Amino acid sequence: MTANKRLLVLPGDGIGPEVMREVRRVIDWMDHRRHVSFAIDEGLVGGAAIDALGSPCPDVTVEAAMASDAVLFGSVGGPKWDSLPFDKRPELGILRLRQDLGLFANLRPAKVMDALLDASSLKPDLVRGLDIMIVRESTGGIYFGEPRGIEIMADGSRRGIDTEVYTEQEIARVARVAFDLARRRTGKMTSVEKANVMQSGRLWRAVVSEVGAAEYPDVTLSHMYADNCAMQLASRPKQFDVVLGSNLFGDLLSDLAAALTGSLGMLPSATLGAPDASGRRRALYEPIHGSAPDIAGKGVANPCAQMLSFAMLLRLSFGMEEDAALIEKAVENVLAGGLRTADIMQPGRARVGTTVMGEAVVRELDKLAA
Ligand code: NAD
Repeated sequence: MTANKRLLVLPGDGIGPEVMREVRRVIDWMDHRRHVSFAIDEGLVGGAAIDALGSPCPDVTVEAAMASDAVLFGSVGGPKWDSLPFDKRPELGILRLRQDLGLFANLRPAKVMDALLDASSLKPDLVRGLDIMIVRESTGGIYFGEPRGIEIMADGSRRGIDTEVYTEQEIARVARVAFDLARRRTGKMTSVEKANVMQSGRLWRAVVSEVGAAEYPDVTLSHMYADNCAMQLASRPKQFDVVLGSNLFGDLLSDLAAALTGSLGMLPSATLGAPDASGRRRALYEPIHGSAPDIAGKGVANPCAQMLSFAMLLRLSFGMEEDAALIEKAVENVLAGGLRTADIMQPGRARVGTTVMGEAVVRELDKLAA
């Protein structure tokens, strides 16, 4: 069988390599059982790359990412590199990859599995079956807009400046990502901004409406002010499916949505770029958690977020919906069966480490595919 799916795997630092090892089990399982073959390249990023090659994101890693169909990223950072100057830190590894690959749409699902209902900050009834997707524009807006800085005024006092700026092209391209997702899901999308008080918000609302009317008449679009959206997410989250926001609002709302699920070790994410001539987008998939230095090397990290990131990769980069759903179901069944890593431990459940959790998911895949 020819391997026509090129993956770059970047385990990174801390628990990154530990949880990535469990994903490799799933990939091996797919190779053997599902007759899908991946050409896998493994590279260095973050502190591991600083130690070996003197840079958090060496050119060789960027070149390998460019040559791949998708990047599966672990996590970077740790106390060993904390004293390095800001422009040499491991965290720059992910920033350079996002920039060089032109990844502008950050996708963060917030899904509540029945087995983990109690981990939510909300009452079980409010979040049972919750499945929402926050799409955040991630290369523009106020985090990058000029002018920015802290200046000294004529009277000697200081003034801090950031600029929220969006072109209609930047808004339209991320809106298309959100509309495409909504079309594959329930056909419902909510776009958030502050069109009542911000000019960039007025443009955001207008452009999203135009793209929707011209290209996605089948998707039901609604608009909501970002502050109201935060309140609605915390009180009636199930009214949402796909939620689209700017870099700033998407950042805040995706963290809020993550809190509804209550478990950092369970949440995957994707960041997508523009489609090429064949329709394929550059993409990077990673858990939302960091390198967890406090538990690194102890064999107790939860590998589920990394496994679910791989499921997202299969769905969004390769259109392998059935395989993605199989992995998600396997994770869900293992949790329903009572196994828990320490971060999601509940009374009466069986506490297991990273490897046992990974092996259990593969065994469940065997059962589901039988
Ligand atoms: P973190 O996400 O690494 O850890 C926060 C807490 O959650 C810790 O107590 C940790 O043990 C726990 N945790 C996280 N993932 C877990 C998992 N899979 N299983 C069980 N427990 C888990 O955030 P932090 O402590 O703020 O940051 C640690 C380092 O990671 C820092 O150097 C930071 O810069 C870096 N970081 C990297 C990324 C990334 O690589 N994209 C993201 C966030 C933070």
